[in-house]
Amino acid sequence: MLNKEALQEQVREIELLIRYGVAETEQQTALDFLQAFHGDSFALDAIQDYYRTLPEAREESLVKISVLEGKEQVFLLLLSTTKHHYFYLVNDEGGLFLGEWEKGLSAPQVLSFFGYPDQDAFTRQHHSLESCRQYVVLERMNEDICPSCGTETGSLHILGCPVEVCPWCGGQLNRCNCRFEQLDVEELTDEKMVQQLEERLVAKGRIPYAREQRPSFLSE
Ligand SMILES: [Zn+2]
Ligand SMILES: [Zn+2]
Repeated sequence: MLNKEALQEQVREIELLIRYGVAETEQQTALDFLQAFHGDSFALDAIQDYYRTLPEAREESLVKISVLEGKEQVFLLLLSTTKHHYFYLVNDEGGLFLGEWEKGLSAPQVLSFFGYPDQDAFTRQHHSLESCRQYVVLERMNEDICPSCGTETGSLHILGCPVEVCPWCGGQLNRCNCRFEQLDVEELTDEKMVQQLEERLVAKGRIPYAREQRPSFLSE
């Protein structure tokens, strides 16, 4: 388990990076944002990586972390300043920047890992910055929050969340074949189908988030 001192040390290191690399006008914003995550090692790692790695010339403060995808302990985040947004892929080993939001996500392996046939399908799902879900402080440490969609214990997942359990087969709803069988199609291609699926799901009874559904995260 990471102890408190190690986290404090990490916060101090990031503060240095901020003082060194962020424009003076944005330093306070950057430090305040950092402070909000002082006990959250998952977020701190991402923040640290941002200030270590990103284009120095921009000197911008990080102001938001969003969770776009999460599966099997791999997360696709969006790290945002007020002007720019960067895709950031992270697992327990470390993180990797995958370019900017404006250009879309093009890494084929990442797309297929999260179940997208191509870049357009990904862009359809994540069509606006407003629709990106903000990372909740400590959510990876809090068992009462779905690690992928952020819903609380007892509440329904955001439709499409990979943690949601299929009420027909008990498997993983976005992996099993039930959604195709229910609609008698090969693929879900438009919004209307998704709506139909949702109606069927509601009629059947969707399974709300519970702690037991958590993918097994490393406890350290
Ligand atoms: Zn969920
Ligand atoms: Zn199923």
